[in-house]
Amino acid sequence: MFACNGVLRKSDFNVDVFEYSPVPFGLVRYGVAPDHQEVKNVIKQFDQMFERNRNRLRLFCNVKIGRDVTFDELTHGYDAVLLAYGSHKTRQLGIPGSDSKNVISGSDFVGWYNGVPHAPTPDLSATDVVIVGNGNVALDCARVLSTASSGALRATDIPDDRLVVLEKVPIKDIKILGRRGPEHVGFYFLFCLKICI
Ligand SMILES: Cc1cc2nc3c(=O)[nH]c(=O)nc-3n(C[C@H](O)[C@H](O)[C@H](O)COP(=O)(O)OP(=O)(O)OC[C@H]3O[C@@H](n4cnc5c(N)ncnc54)[C@H](O)[C@@H]3O)c2cc1C
Repeated sequence: MFACNGVLRKSDFNVDVFEYSPVPFGLVRYGVAPDHQEVKNVIKQFDQMFERNRNRLRLFCNVKIGRDVTFDELTHGYDAVLLAYGSHKTRQLGIPGSDSKNVISGSDFVGWYNGVPHAPTPDLSATDVVIVGNGNVALDCARVLSTASSGALRATDIPDDRLVVLEKVPIKDIKILGRRGPEHVGFYFLFCLKICI
């Protein structure tokens, strides 16, 4: 979307955006944590961009490049093609046992609580959880899991059907594993502070 905005500002091109999901804005909608509305607010700027440029900017959702439209069709139909399809697939750890029952990837879990359509509901009946990796997403997951039962997520845009499940989570203990020491943690201090207070 930022690239799109740049093209629109610096040229008089017509721009078509193709999106695989039924709704636009990728991981800003389906990745950023629901209690980080200050980040998600960038969606308002994207909406305004579409409003301002409605005579030369079009959005086609539910269109998968490679399935519904071929790459050849794109290159023949347009003067330029910008690929910005993200990196949203789960990366497997690939170690023995990592495909065991109830081992869930961060992107699947985050996508589920952010309302990805038809995302399978994870089994959240456990009391002890371990999160592998200590970046921002690890803390997002830990925060969502540990605060939901207090009702803290009700003021967010988390979908109701996901909230109902999260609020019943019986989790008592969350451990976060990092492969290096505290000086190498991958999350921002602000997130750490939020979870500690
Ligand atoms: C869990 C999580 C939390 C995050 N939290 C934050 C945060 O708090 N703050 C922050 O600044 N950043 C955060 N990020 C990072 C941020 O969301 C990403 O850096 C950003 O969204 C990347 O933008 P993008 O446009 O490159 O990719 P994406 O947002 O992934 O967008 C790519 C789009 O391409 C579509 N697409 C893919 N393949 C096709 C196809 N074949 N045909 C048509 N469409 C296709 C996808 O459906 C998607 O909508 C987070 C990321 C994750 C995963």
